Amino acid sequence: MATAADLDRPADSLDDFRKEARAWLEANFDPALKGHDNAMSAVDGPTAETPAQKKWREAMGDKGWGVPTWPTEYGGGGLSRAEARVLQEEMARIGAWNPIGGMGVMMFGPTLLEYGSEEQKQAHIPGIVRGEVRWCQGYSEPGAGSDLASLQTFAEDKGDHYLVNGQKTWTSGGQWADKCFALVRTDKSQKHAGISFLLIDMESEGVETRPIRLISGASPFCETFFTNVKVPKGNLVGREGQGWEIGTRLLQHERNSLSGGSGSAARMNAGNTVPEIAKKYRGTDAEGRLADADLRTRIIRHEMDQRAFALTLRRAALEAKGNAGPSAATSVMKNVGARITQDRAELNVEIMGMQGLGWEGEGFSREELEQTRTWLWGKAVSIYGGSSEIQNNVIAKRILGMLDHQ
Ligand SMILES: Cc1cc2nc3c(=O)[nH]c(=O)nc-3n(C[C@H](O)[C@H](O)[C@H](O)COP(=O)(O)OP(=O)(O)OC[C@H]3O[C@@H](n4cnc5c(N)ncnc54)[C@H](O)[C@@H]3O)c2cc1C
Repeated sequence: MATAADLDRPADSLDDFRKEARAWLEANFDPALKGHDNAMSAVDGPTAETPAQKKWREAMGDKGWGVPTWPTEYGGGGLSRAEARVLQEEMARIGAWNPIGGMGVMMFGPTLLEYGSEEQKQAHIPGIVRGEVRWCQGYSEPGAGSDLASLQTFAEDKGDHYLVNGQKTWTSGGQWADKCFALVRTDKSQKHAGISFLLIDMESEGVETRPIRLISGASPFCETFFTNVKVPKGNLVGREGQGWEIGTRLLQHERNSLSGGSGSAARMNAGNTVPEIAKKYRGTDAEGRLADADLRTRIIRHEMDQRAFALTLRRAALEAKGNAGPSAATSVMKNVGARITQDRAELNVEIMGMQGLGWEGEGFSREELEQTRTWLWGKAVSIYGGSSEIQNNVIAKRILGMLDHQ
């Protein structure tokens, strides 16, 4: 596991590791896979994996390098954070991508490592490390979104198992998931202390998913119904009634990943920056600059925000030397990241004019249609993982220490 000393280690002491990583990546990453993506993270479901992609996923899974800092006893890479950064650099150098991902990596795995029993870690972490098991998040309900603790899905104690009844909504990837980490009510008399954290097999009898179609045209998430679903007692994580503590810890991991803390923002920007799009659609003056001075200023402001944000994320990661994991400050990052993502989409669509307003048809290129859908999808960024208003509440209370009436 990472230690504070790792971060201070001089770069040249990592030279041996760099050589090892470089040799292994060159032997295992097929250059023909450059530009492909990780099927585990795709919001539109698992794409058909080619034999070469499967081989790469299996190689990374065996090595544990898809989750490089997770402990080796559960199949993780066991690398220090400094080594993991070197690995990331070496992968970027040859255009290799991480084939392991999804909610298991982003949020469930780190939470189970902290709160799960030894038996649960042995049962669930290796499948995540090897990219073989897809997890979904069963938190939100029709009457429990921002006010999550109002959730009503009930797990009734039946001796050796729970009988689960209720409805979840906005379950991302629910229709493709193997398993669900869910917040359920085990005690109706107490709001927060009556919540438990339960692992539910999506193949269980009584689980039904219905995909919801979005403004962007995709159906990446579902309404999920539980009707008399039998869940073994061994699937309870932590104690009965500890679900609120465990569930909110998981949300910190989620917000950390969504803010770009795990590099997702950088991936989203690859190859289509706002200045590149502006030059293409608005043209340049004799000096090679964008002719529209106002647009130029706004693009520069956006670029500065984006770079400052990327540097701040990097600094925050370096400062988290105690390895205590994400804190309430991830709410600040989530909000800033969401604003920058939405600003970028707005700018792109504005710059492209009519070409940025296509839904389908021959008059638009694939990239143009993608920009329109990215803009529409971007509306969700300030909602999922906890809305911006709720993050502001978290910042006010937990970071600034303000009271409810202030
Ligand atoms: C793309 C996407 C994917 C998602 N994936 C999942 C998933 O996989 N699993 C899952 O469990 N959930 C998922 N969600 C649900 C998401 O977490 C909720 O949508 C979110 O928590 C907001 O809840 P809500 O939609 O019920 O809105 P509401 O809670 O009804 O809020 C409506 C509006 O009121 C504001 N508001 C509410 N309460 C307050 C308050 N106290 N103070 C100030 N403003 C307030 C909100 O900020 C928002 O603007 C997803 C949502 C989206 C959009």
